[in-house]
Amino acid sequence: MASRILFGTNGIRGVVNKDLTPEFVTKVAIAIGTYFRARARNQKILVGYDSRTSSILLSRSLISGIASTGCNVYDVGYAPTPAIQYAVKHFEMDGCIIITASHNPPEYNGIKVVDEDAVEISRDEERKIEGIFHEEKFLRNKWSDLGKIDAFPGIIEVYKEAIKRHIDIKAIREKQFRVVVDPANGVGSLVTPYLLSEIGCEVLTINSQLDGNFPGRLPEPKPETLGVLSSTTKAVKADLGVAHDGDADRCIFTDELGNVCLGDITGTIIVDYILQRSQSRLAVTPISTSTLLEEVVKTHNAKLRWTKVGSTIVTKKMQEINAIIGMEDNGGIFYSPHQPVRDGAMTAVLMLEILAKKKTTLSQLINKLPKYHIIKERHDCPNQLKKRVHQEVLSQTEGLNRMTLDGVKVFFKDGSVLIRPSGTEAIYRIVAESKNDGRAKKIVEWGISLVKEGLKNASAR
Ligand code: MG
Repeated sequence: MASRILFGTNGIRGVVNKDLTPEFVTKVAIAIGTYFRARARNQKILVGYDSRTSSILLSRSLISGIASTGCNVYDVGYAPTPAIQYAVKHFEMDGCIIITASHNPPEYNGIKVVDEDAVEISRDEERKIEGIFHEEKFLRNKWSDLGKIDAFPGIIEVYKEAIKRHIDIKAIREKQFRVVVDPANGVGSLVTPYLLSEIGCEVLTINSQLDGNFPGRLPEPKPETLGVLSSTTKAVKADLGVAHDGDADRCIFTDELGNVCLGDITGTIIVDYILQRSQSRLAVTPISTSTLLEEVVKTHNAKLRWTKVGSTIVTKKMQEINAIIGMEDNGGIFYSPHQPVRDGAMTAVLMLEILAKKKTTLSQLINKLPKYHIIKERHDCPNQLKKRVHQEVLSQTEGLNRMTLDGVKVFFKDGSVLIRPSGTEAIYRIVAESKNDGRAKKIVEWGISLVKEGLKNASAR
């Protein structure tokens, strides 16, 4: 990681022992510790991690670096990202550092820095840490003034109880739901199966032992990785299938027929429900979400605010305008009354409450929504060419009805397409939608052709 930019869309990410070596992590940790210590002397920092093979190893490097600057470190062990974030506020910590690569393949890991308000630090704050790192303006404490390092068990129980306070447990219990949970051998295994069982569901689990090799499926929850969840939900006649990504801040569902549902659609169902029963008229979502959400939000006389892609950006916008709910098309739901960050377990129980209260099935709820055909494609693009390809796409779409908030989103009379470089992978994402199936396919092909053309021109320059 020679680049001056360390933080991407979701913190620092890289391949273990290539980008993320123990010595690199220690140096980053010293920079982070120095950053926190610039605020006050006695800083209390939580550290937690996902179930990757490298997480404990890297946590040791990280903890050493932070404690060397005089911050006191509390090690919560394996835990979902939202559980660690919740613990920061609950235990009045000054921040936390989470070792996770979320949905990335097993060879990756990463570092997220979270502030005392349980939200990831802003881009400006990340720049400060990058500055300390590159200029090596490290705080080196005396031997007699090192931070303490302690284990800090028990946050999972506190987190589960917090979620329970926001839902109608009685309504869910009465329905005696059967639910299949697939946490991808990630840290969601520690929460969701137990939580759902405690609120009266019959829970069947797959891939629910911690294993950083992710032997059951890759940690990104999508139709290609959720075949077993899909067939199991159907075979055991479950009411719902629940899948998390590696750090369980996201939740993708299968309906009772075993269909893997798009996050745009289940997210819209949740936003619809929350707006129905709340006074708040504001919801937030990134530009990558389907127009379906906007159509449904408008039926509540509510406003939808579009943002750039990135969960922290959604959270910050929600805080700024005091929105009750946010959602991402990847299965991220942000429910402010609990915490304004995405939270996979909270999402799962909200969906169960909706099924209980509406006395219906998920497939029926989906059938009632306006029909959009949404096609999500990807195209390889080396990171160093992303900017040039973006310029090419900009010039190719000149004069069309478009939004350039993040990538380029082109609107047609009967559909739209978003062409956007991924912040975490060497790919371009192309997402098209239309109420007409054939038209959606045409639009997505057009979007892919723009990226291909852009790559050709960008490589030739
Ligand atoms: Mg995640």
